[in-house]
Amino acid sequence: MSVAVRTRLRREATHFGFQIVDWRKRQGPDVEPGRIMLRLLGLLLVGVLGANASEPVTTSDAVAAAAQHAAVFAFPLDPSPADTEPYCADFENCNVRAGRHRKYHAARDYARPAGTPVYAIADGRVSFSGRMGGYGWLVIVDHPQANLYSLYGHLSPSRWHKRPGPVRKGELIAYLGDSTENGGTPKHPLVTHLHFGVRAGQRADYPSQGEWRWQAGWIRSMPSDLGWLHPAAILAAESLPAGGFRKPRMNFMSVWYPELLRVGFLLLAGLGSAAYAYRKKKPALLLVYGIVLSVIARVFWIKGMTTYLLPLAAGILLLVFGGGWLLRDRLRKGRQDAAGP
Ligand SMILES: [Zn+2]
Repeated sequence: MSVAVRTRLRREATHFGFQIVDWRKRQGPDVEPGRIMLRLLGLLLVGVLGANASEPVTTSDAVAAAAQHAAVFAFPLDPSPADTEPYCADFENCNVRAGRHRKYHAARDYARPAGTPVYAIADGRVSFSGRMGGYGWLVIVDHPQANLYSLYGHLSPSRWHKRPGPVRKGELIAYLGDSTENGGTPKHPLVTHLHFGVRAGQRADYPSQGEWRWQAGWIRSMPSDLGWLHPAAILAAESLPAGGFRKPRMNFMSVWYPELLRVGFLLLAGLGSAAYAYRKKKPALLLVYGIVLSVIARVFWIKGMTTYLLPLAAGILLLVFGGGWLLRDRLRKGRQDAAGP
């Protein structure tokens, strides 16, 4: 048996196993054994027919293996009949449900059962592997040789996942998460799927928050304007452009304005409250706004916004100034009391 056939059999068996486990989980505790047998038979038939349909007899395993080896990028999932099933959202699909707040999908989704293995598309370095908001677990792999990074969302925090460090093409990086841990919750479960994005440039090229942030999934601008590439086109690429994929030209303001706008508003509000506190001679107001700014800075920091330092500095300044003012008032009052009437 050739290596390609063995690999394919192993991958099919893994996928088959996960499908059964996933289906069994969804059925609840009292499913009849007869139904399980029927389901097993059905899946087996689909697997056999699907494999036959997707693999022309004229393509030898050697040719298929050579093609997979020659491709610049590996597919992030095992080949399976599910690839032809409708996926959750294609690249640049528009989220019309959100009405005027509509956003575009910066990736392609592949619907698969929880526990499906996910692989790195090329050699590189896992630069991020951690919990990230609506993604559940998120893995990002930098590929400096191609000047792009790949993003894999809705992974499983509870299963094994690769830690930051070097990674090889086709290497296992994580598993798809259950619908309650992949960004979904028991109350609002999320369809188990891989959110797969590819972006020109490196993660460090996109430091700011807002639509331009490096882990964006749904964004207001057209994703291709911000360097997101069509995942299907990248996976089908037969060669790398000289010097890798070029990131879009973005000037300073276009990268930073959403973040600067928010920080600017906060600082203006801080300045306004300071002026108000000074006029009304109420140092406690400064303390209150200092605390508010510090809390906001903490939120910015959690959200990965690089400009968290500005509200933090302003918050500390207000706290020190307000505290000093309050202390001076106390001392003065104390001295007056000591001097007596
Ligand atoms: Zn998605």
